[in-house]
Amino acid sequence: MWNGLYDRRPAFVARCRTAADVSAALRHAADESLEVTVRGGGHGVAGTAVADGTLLIDLSPMRAVTVDPVARVAHAAGGCLVGDVDAATAPHGLACPLGAAPRTGLGGLALGGGYGWLARRWGLTCDHIEAAEVVLADGSIVEATEDRHPDLLWALRGGGGNFGVVTRFTLRLRPVGPVHHQVAVYPMKEAAAALAAYRAFAGHQPRDLRTVGSFRHAGRQEWIPARLRGAPALFLTAAWSGDPADGPAATTPLFGTAPPAGVLARVMSHADLQALGDGGEPSGHRYFVRSSYLDDLPPGAAVRFTDAVREMPSPLSSIGFEYLRGAVTDVPDEDSAFPRRDAAYMCTVSAQWTAPGGDAENIAWARRAADRVKPFATRGGYVNHLQDVREGKVLEVYGTARHRRLAVVKKAYDPGNVLRHNHNIPPAADR
Ligand SMILES: Cc1cc2nc3c(=O)[nH]c(=O)nc-3n(C[C@H](O)[C@H](O)[C@H](O)COP(=O)(O)OP(=O)(O)OC[C@H]3O[C@@H](n4cnc5c(N)ncnc54)[C@H](O)[C@@H]3O)c2cc1C
Repeated sequence: MWNGLYDRRPAFVARCRTAADVSAALRHAADESLEVTVRGGGHGVAGTAVADGTLLIDLSPMRAVTVDPVARVAHAAGGCLVGDVDAATAPHGLACPLGAAPRTGLGGLALGGGYGWLARRWGLTCDHIEAAEVVLADGSIVEATEDRHPDLLWALRGGGGNFGVVTRFTLRLRPVGPVHHQVAVYPMKEAAAALAAYRAFAGHQPRDLRTVGSFRHAGRQEWIPARLRGAPALFLTAAWSGDPADGPAATTPLFGTAPPAGVLARVMSHADLQALGDGGEPSGHRYFVRSSYLDDLPPGAAVRFTDAVREMPSPLSSIGFEYLRGAVTDVPDEDSAFPRRDAAYMCTVSAQWTAPGGDAENIAWARRAADRVKPFATRGGYVNHLQDVREGKVLEVYGTARHRRLAVVKKAYDPGNVLRHNHNIPPAADR
């Protein structure tokens, strides 16, 4: 498991290679009155893929991907990692908009939403699920499409792992070319000015551009000025997926207004851009994440970010933010389970440390940092960043009406709430 904070021991591990294996595991668990968990890539922030004394349905042997470049679809097995899908689609000049970390699981990512470098241009990963082979809680195997089980397909697009075990995703693919990539660094004393420039720019940026900000300790790379290395700094990263020649001009309003202390600008393939997401948050470290949507990034937020960064106990931790929207807002709100497509910004406090003795201090810091941003937070949140699995929190993420609709689908496909070790949506109660 990615998050070393959770040291849990299942009673049995079913290493599944096929949908029939998953079906047999679910039936066996029912016969033996065992609870089950489902592991995709093991990168769930909340660690729900493993629980003590359960039967763990491990999908990691199921990582095959086939690509139909003419139809522009990929069939990806339920245990695929993001990097598996990218590796299979890249030779065809195609990609599914996925998350930005190659070792995260496609399963958890896609079922919870999926924000990545292409989200502003093409939308979320869940918007690209055309169909899914699903093993239901009773062991039966169905194919969810727009025509067959459309309610299930609707729920799989953002409702998480509540409705069945997905053993194959059919994903729509998009054409991709070279990307113009820039990383800019600012000293903390210039963070407020840089954030003001970002705020003025973010809502007007073209859809081919995704920009993300991160407060973190600067590394020792040559392009980072020596005086900033090893100290907290603000990084703004821009990835332009339009014609690479137009990349520098696309960010001139941002970097021209707030000139950075150092910049690294490169043209790279989409696959290489994806690979950059490897390594910064290794498996086995301890993580505590607090994430929220913000309507705005006012000057008051900059002060609060910098105060929180000053108190950061671990040099591995970070506070990230980004402007969202773009193609994410093109899908009508009622067409998928994914909530809050209109959210403007996401802000993610990510505490990372290694020693168990640091738990209390680092968790307290993340909580405090998130509290500092709370005055600017708006309703809802991103389920894939939710570390708190309490029912009330899941309700907050989806909102009452959507949660109720999800509960009705849950009742149809998993009335006994067999799949409950997740961000759980209990089946709708009988009237
Ligand atoms: C380092 C890192 C980087 C990340 N980057 C991004 C990013 O760029 N964009 C983004 O949107 N998110 C990102 N995330 C969040 C990520 O999307 C979630 O953590 C996601 O849940 C990981 O999926 P997984 O399959 O690895 O998780 P797991 O821990 O294996 O599973 C989590 C839950 O998902 C469900 N599940 C998983 N696979 C299946 C399946 N096939 N069928 C049914 N249920 C399933 C189960 O309920 C399980 O409990 C990142 C997370 C990490 C740790």
